[in-house]
Amino acid sequence: MASIFTKIINREIPSDIVFENDKVIAFKDINPQAPVHILVVPKKEIATINDIKEEDKELIGEVYLAIGKIAAQLGIAEEGYRVIANCNEYGGQEVFHIHFHLLGGEKLGPLV
Ligand code: 5GP
Repeated sequence: MASIFTKIINREIPSDIVFENDKVIAFKDINPQAPVHILVVPKKEIATINDIKEEDKELIGEVYLAIGKIAAQLGIAEEGYRVIANCNEYGGQEVFHIHFHLLGGEKLGPLV
């Protein structure tokens, strides 16, 4: 079954998209934890960080390139931001399609 993020990619579920290219999409988190809270998602549906393969190395690089572009686009690059990726139960992962939380817009608190 398609992940909720694949449904967003396919425009089956609405979202507030801030960036998209052929490999990566980024949209506002529905439940923001900071003034800027963007989910940066590879279009390829990889369930968890544990499932990233050798063949995905370039794709993960594309994700980080996108993060830098989005941070600049949203005006948070210089002040700074945090990138978080949760994995499985202890990491608090809820959506099993890898994604990177881009958080910023204020000085963030402790990591956990
Ligand atoms: P996780 O806990 O898996 O790292 O993060 C999943 C994130 O996806 C959560 O921050 C949650 O608010 C967000 N989310 C879940 N469903 C939707 C949705 O339908 N639209 C958007 N924009 N964000 C979602």
